Amino acid sequence: MKKYVYAIIMILYIGFSIIVINYASNWMTNNNYSIIASKAKDIAILTEKNFKLTDAEVEELKKLEFKDLILHPVNIRLEDMFSDKNGYKDIRFVYIMVKLDEEQIKYRVTKEYEEFYGVQAGTPLNVLYLVDVVVGKTLRETLNEYASYYDDIKRYSHIRTGDEIAFQEKKPVYEMMDSEYGQGITGFAPIYTEEGTFVGMLGVDIYIEEYESNVKLVRLLLFIVFLLPSVALTAVYVTLYVINLRRALITAQTDPLTSAKNRRFMEKYMTQTIKDHYKKQLPLSVIMIDIDYFKKYNDNYGHQQGDNVLVEVTKGIASVLRDNTDVICRYGGEEFLAILTNMKASGAKGVAERIKMAVNGLAIKHEYSDVSNVVTVSQGVYSAVPKNTDTEKIFIEYADKGLYEAKNTGRNKYVYMEAEKTR
Ligand code: GH3
Ligand code: MG
Ligand code: MG
Repeated sequence: MKKYVYAIIMILYIGFSIIVINYASNWMTNNNYSIIASKAKDIAILTEKNFKLTDAEVEELKKLEFKDLILHPVNIRLEDMFSDKNGYKDIRFVYIMVKLDEEQIKYRVTKEYEEFYGVQAGTPLNVLYLVDVVVGKTLRETLNEYASYYDDIKRYSHIRTGDEIAFQEKKPVYEMMDSEYGQGITGFAPIYTEEGTFVGMLGVDIYIEEYESNVKLVRLLLFIVFLLPSVALTAVYVTLYVINLRRALITAQTDPLTSAKNRRFMEKYMTQTIKDHYKKQLPLSVIMIDIDYFKKYNDNYGHQQGDNVLVEVTKGIASVLRDNTDVICRYGGEEFLAILTNMKASGAKGVAERIKMAVNGLAIKHEYSDVSNVVTVSQGVYSAVPKNTDTEKIFIEYADKGLYEAKNTGRNKYVYMEAEKTR
């Protein structure tokens, strides 16, 4: 029950976090955009106020080739207004767009320039950059380096939908743009000559990569603050859950008094082991072990003391078994079954002998035993390569028969049950 409650709370929390993070970053992005947009527009207005042009200058500029424009004093005047690189870090281009009449159109988009302009060949280039400044770069110096950029056709452009409105309304606007130089916002302000003639729109391009990376950073921080703790908590919870589960599984397989495997585990394990040994045609050995005269021990030393003997005898048996391949199970009250994987009769006999020695070696006083003055065990050993039809019952049955014979022939010993004799 608890784990479902936890899972539900976590799912709600993670869902809530995602909504908050999304909302916050959208809000920030929109906020950023409107700040950038106002900034672009304001700079355009301010530039227009401070950039004086005469009708004569406009006419002169229109006639220039792109290369000559870059070197022209008027263009340099505008360039100088933006020479403070740090002050205008995010502004990349400042320019004046002049809308051309039909008869003034000099170029149309050629096949070669389709990608550059993002429109089909043949589209008339109906906008002229009267002045064109790349902020933070002194174009005069890079003119040779970027010669291809100053192909005269590139001084012309086609009018975009947003620009059209700006030209019609002749008032400051801003618009989002997506050019080959990146994503940004353009602020436009109408520009007039000293004589009052409308020239075109003065554009200021701000690219938003820098702002975008800020938004990404904040999104990451929000993620860390909101989601990481829940992810970490869930990981801890799952780990604890798995540890508990594993513990519960071991407890369910273990005899609480002796820590030997219990009978339930034994049955499952034997079924699986027999199948496995049959498949690989390997010998499997089992030893049924029973404490001698244990009733008498209990009667004389007390049940509590008897319990201690069970614990000690288990340890004694386990001490001679292989750690990873052998298993000791508490089969009944004072009976144990040792399961020895991939072990043939000779090996199993050796193990039984060592178990006998180990238990004798415990030297637990048993004055009421008829066979020794210490606690001893009798054992029945059985070993076989399992047959297709074998179950754990068969292995136990033969080991039990061996044990019975050991009891009848003196105790404190093992009897090996030959498969041939019994089947
Ligand atoms: P044998 O040599 O023929 O095996 O004689 P035995 O007395 O050991 O055999 P029997 O089956 O008559 O008695 C088994 C005794 O084991 C009976 C019971 O009191 C004792 N016993 C079984 N389980 C426990 C246990 O968990 N704790 C204790 N202290 N004694 C147990
Ligand atoms: Mg018994
Ligand atoms: Mg016994």
